[in-house]
Amino acid sequence: MIQIYGAGIAGTFLYNLLLKNGYRASIFEVRKSPDCRCGWGIAYREAKELYSEIDIEIDDFILTKPEKVLVNGLELRNKGIAIFDKLRLLEELWRNIEFKKSDAEVIVDATGTKRAFLPKIAKDRLVPTLQFMERHEKDENIYIYFERHGYAWAFPLGEYWHIGAGSIFENKIPELIEKLRVKFGFEKKESACSCSARIRMLPLSKCRPFVHNNVVGVGEAIGCVSGAGEGNAPSLKCAKILYDCIENLGIYENRVLKELNWVEREQRFLDSVFRGIPAFHLLFKIIPNERKRLVEHSILDFLRVFI
Ligand SMILES: Cc1cc2nc3c(=O)[nH]c(=O)nc-3n(C[C@H](O)[C@H](O)[C@H](O)COP(=O)(O)OP(=O)(O)OC[C@H]3O[C@@H](n4cnc5c(N)ncnc54)[C@H](O)[C@@H]3O)c2cc1C
Repeated sequence: MIQIYGAGIAGTFLYNLLLKNGYRASIFEVRKSPDCRCGWGIAYREAKELYSEIDIEIDDFILTKPEKVLVNGLELRNKGIAIFDKLRLLEELWRNIEFKKSDAEVIVDATGTKRAFLPKIAKDRLVPTLQFMERHEKDENIYIYFERHGYAWAFPLGEYWHIGAGSIFENKIPELIEKLRVKFGFEKKESACSCSARIRMLPLSKCRPFVHNNVVGVGEAIGCVSGAGEGNAPSLKCAKILYDCIENLGIYENRVLKELNWVEREQRFLDSVFRGIPAFHLLFKIIPNERKRLVEHSILDFLRVFI
C-alpha cells in the first residue's frame, strides 16, 4: 500500500498512475478544494504526453497558447508555453477521489512547499509571491517585468488575467507589480481575488534527502521548480520518475537528478546570481534548453534583460 499526502499536480498524477497500473494507493489532502493560486503556465508538449498516461487530454483544459512572451523591452516567440485551467483540472481529478489515510509501507510526501513528512531542508529558500486576478483588454501574450531579485508577470486566462510577482525581497513585490503595470499598460483594476504564496527556489541537490526511511518526496517538496519558477511540468515528470522507481526507491534520487538536471542547472545559476557572482557559463546549456522547451531566445537576449 502506498499513501500519498498532498493532492496537487504531483500527488494527483502519481495517484492516478499507480491506480491505473494496479497498485494499491490512497491519497490525503488537507484542503477542502484545490489550490487555485496562479501557476497555470505549463510546458504544453510535456504535459500532453504525461497526462495521456492517465487518460487526461490536456487540450480540454488549455485556455490559451500565447503567441509572444514580452520581457522588459524584448519580444520573444512563444514555442511551448500553454496556459491551462489548473483549477478545473484538479477539481476534475478530485471528484473521483475518496481522500483517506491508510496504513502503508510507503509514504509519499507530495505536500509542495510544506514538505510535511521529509526532514526539513537546511537553509531552505521559499520565495514569497503575491498575485491578483483582474479583467483586462490586452493582446493574449505573456508579459514579464524582470529584475535580478525577482519578476512580475501577467498571464492571460481568457476573460481574466493573473497578475503577480515574486521576489527574494518581499518588500519589493508591490514595486515590481507597479513597474509591470506601467511598462505594459495594465492599470490597477478591481481584483476578483488575491492571495500570497511561496515557491521553493533551490537547486534540487540541496533538497535532499528525497527518500528518508519509508518516506519519499515528489514535486516541489523536493525542489522540482525551474529557475524561472516553473514547477508544473517538472513536478509531473518527477511523479512519473517516482512511479517508475516505486519498486526500487534506491535508484530514485539519481534518476531525478539526472533527468531533471536542467532544473538543477537553472537553480544553480539563480543561486549564483543571489550570491552576487553570476555563473554565466551555465547559460550555454540553459538557453538552448529553454529555446527547445519554451521560448525562442538567445544568450544575447538574456544578457540584454539581465544586465
Ligand atoms: C504564485 C505562483 C505562480 C506559479 N506559476 C507557475 C506557472 O505559471 N507555471 C508552473 O509550471 N509553475 C508555477 N508555479 C509553481 C507550481 O505551481 C508548483 O511548483 C507546483 O504546483 C508544485 O506541485 P506539487 O504537486 O509538488 O505541490 P502543490 O501544487 O503545492 O501541492 C501540494 C498539495 O499538498 C497539500 N498539503 C500540504 N500539506 C499537507 C499535509 N500535511 N497533508 C496533506 N496534504 C498537504 C496542499 O494543500 C496542496 O494541495 C507557481 C507557483 C506560485 C507560488
